[in-house]
Amino acid sequence: MGQERWYKGSLHAHTTESDGDYPPEKVAEWHRNHGYDWLVLSDHNLLTRLKKHLSTPLMVPGEEVTVNLEGQEKAVYVNSVGISKVVQPVDGGDVLGTLQKNVSAVLEAGGMASLCAPYFRPGFDHESLKKVTGYRFIEVFNAHPLNVHGDPRTFSYEGIWDAILSSGQLVYGTATDDTHNYKDYGADKANPGRAWVMTRGVALTEKTILESLYRGDFYSSTGVVLNDIEITNSSISVEIKPGLMQNFVTTFIGSEGRELNQQSGHKATYKIQGGEGYVRARVDSSVGSRAWIQPVIVK
Ligand SMILES: [Zn+2]
Repeated sequence: MGQERWYKGSLHAHTTESDGDYPPEKVAEWHRNHGYDWLVLSDHNLLTRLKKHLSTPLMVPGEEVTVNLEGQEKAVYVNSVGISKVVQPVDGGDVLGTLQKNVSAVLEAGGMASLCAPYFRPGFDHESLKKVTGYRFIEVFNAHPLNVHGDPRTFSYEGIWDAILSSGQLVYGTATDDTHNYKDYGADKANPGRAWVMTRGVALTEKTILESLYRGDFYSSTGVVLNDIEITNSSISVEIKPGLMQNFVTTFIGSEGRELNQQSGHKATYKIQGGEGYVRARVDSSVGSRAWIQPVIVK
């Protein structure tokens, strides 16, 4: 077996097939030119495929299942990765029912489902989301300018993630661009290259990417690069790639979002005590970028 390495990928990008402003081939080209190894084109209610095969980025099938409910200002979104056929959106009557029905539809199509940041809406928080089951991922960072900070009237995205984890559901946190704009760049544009995930595997294949995502052996990032993550029965260790003029702080977090431990520097290790519920880690760089390491369940 070969050596494992990290592969950079995007889980959430739109093209002119739905509401993006670059055609699929140009979106793929942008990602290839910017060091991405794999890419999910997640157009609304479409399974977008390229006209010709590319070695990089490797294309992983996906779709953003989108339902406009009567009387609702915002659509209901469920993202997918690894589907084998297009998922027909289902109207579940209300927001919660629609989320659940479309998560189930993604699973039926052989994919993994992700709740994406527009799940954030007034009056709809972790208590509602805890009732949805079967999804594997939740976006803890979505770089679309509408979504970055979430809704200040309620929980942060990380707060929602911790609440769901604390309720006993194991879901992994992703960081995505939700890219729509490739032509014009600005703080008010949904541009590419702001947030991604790093999967781990011995080779770049759809299978290794999906397996890495499925078992949570990946991290999400807005700029922090990790050399290694090592998880054993007794500890979780993180090794951070040094960055120019950057200091790093790693925070280990347990049940109910409780801060368990914090360490500075390029290496951090947390010794599992038992009873934490779960342990996850976040690395914060002094320049503002972050990495999120996936939770492990600790009884
Ligand atoms: Zn989207």
